[in-house]
Amino acid sequence: MDDIRLRFYNTLTRKLEPFESFEEGHARFYTCGPTVYNFSHIGNLRTFLFEDILRRTLKLFGWRVTQVMNLTDIDDKTIRSANEAGVSLREFTDQYIQAFFEDLDTLRIERAEHYPRATDYITEMAHLVKILEEGGHTYRSGDSIYYRISTFPAYGKLSRIRLDKNLAGARVDSDEYEKEDARDFVLWKAAKENEPSWDTEIGSGRPGWHLECSAMATSLLGETFDIHTGGVDNIFPHHENEIAQSEGASGKPFARFWLHAEHLNLESEKMAKSKGNFFTLRELIERGHDPVVIRYLLMSVPYRQKLNFTFDGLHAAEQGLERVANTLRRLDHTPEVEDDGDLNLTDIVAFRRHFREGLADDLNTAKALAALHTVLRQVNTALDGEGISAEVRSALFEAFDEANSVLGVFPEAEAGETTDDDEIQSLVEERTESRKNKDFARSDAIRNELEARGIVIEDTPHGPVWRRG
Ligand code: AMP
Ligand code: ZN
Repeated sequence: MDDIRLRFYNTLTRKLEPFESFEEGHARFYTCGPTVYNFSHIGNLRTFLFEDILRRTLKLFGWRVTQVMNLTDIDDKTIRSANEAGVSLREFTDQYIQAFFEDLDTLRIERAEHYPRATDYITEMAHLVKILEEGGHTYRSGDSIYYRISTFPAYGKLSRIRLDKNLAGARVDSDEYEKEDARDFVLWKAAKENEPSWDTEIGSGRPGWHLECSAMATSLLGETFDIHTGGVDNIFPHHENEIAQSEGASGKPFARFWLHAEHLNLESEKMAKSKGNFFTLRELIERGHDPVVIRYLLMSVPYRQKLNFTFDGLHAAEQGLERVANTLRRLDHTPEVEDDGDLNLTDIVAFRRHFREGLADDLNTAKALAALHTVLRQVNTALDGEGISAEVRSALFEAFDEANSVLGVFPEAEAGETTDDDEIQSLVEERTESRKNKDFARSDAIRNELEARGIVIEDTPHGPVWRRG
């Protein structure tokens, strides 16, 4: 299957391009992380999940991965919220960093190799500004330092925003500003009362948000690396400004591929904390929803398409995942057949190929999931018919493990967590045994107990199979 090439849609070129890494066999990428002033909402998490699928897919295709995700623990929002809470910035952001990692674990998102905190890289940030100053890209106003975008002719190449000459020179101090409005942006903000500040080689103050990512990316991945990702709202101004800072300082290309995830909407509007229309992962779990179902829902639509969050969608995802679990369990508990059975090794090769082709096509998770459901249907048909041989069954489990190395949604008994699968299995076996011994009172009692637990038993030519109803 080495002929399947991984391709990504590159925002920089607006084209689907085969992925290649600068270092052979080693993919290095930077993902803009959370601003830790609140719990992540499931829109934020959709973007982090897309990055999880990216890293898992790169690994499936044989790359070693170095992923950096920053933690924005200083910006306008974190400072304002810490002041309102009356605690230090560090103490305030610590709690949300911890919550963020808990959410990642809950959603089975793999850990990146590095999670730099912005406040741990202030020296590097100041140094980057120093280099930009020496290169003539900045000007000072008061004790703040701005990037003069007219000194970087490539400004706008990512977002394709036109540099309006009338606007060049108009400054903005805030970290986020209006779309489609290119402005000189703040690199370094003068020290203010009620704001943390640092004494550095460029003076006293604190970094602007855009500067943070440029400095952390370069510190951990070098001046040039393979992939930079974020949500579509990051394209402008955030990523455009990162390019201006990094390439303005190094004179080298910053990232080769830029990948951007579309938004999760709620009632057709972008899910956003500022608008108050959001769900956190915690809220959904409190309402009784299984985090794996949420993971499954969020990946069911390819990352470049908008996804509208609804409870109907969540319910459909639950049913989809139930089908997966039921078939896997059925496969697990049905005896193998001696002869060839109704499923062939070629069917499994076809599944593995289709699954990979889906992911290779710009991480098309919908295609990959469709391939999975096709093979699951074939498995059910085979189990209804002649059954499945030992050889095919073990090839299937191998293929499922491979698929799940990217999807991360198959049932798994996590450390410390118990499932009642074994107990149910032995009840089902006891029922068969009692029926053989004509102890119908016992077999009926077992059936009733299983029914009460939501278990459906079907008697097939290969013995009983059970599933959760
Ligand atoms: P923030 O914590 O606000 O810095 O956002 C973290 C990440 O979530 C960024 O990459 C954003 O682009 C992304 N993001 C914000 N809102 C949404 C949304 N509704 N859907 C998907 N991603 C989002
Ligand atoms: Zn960033």
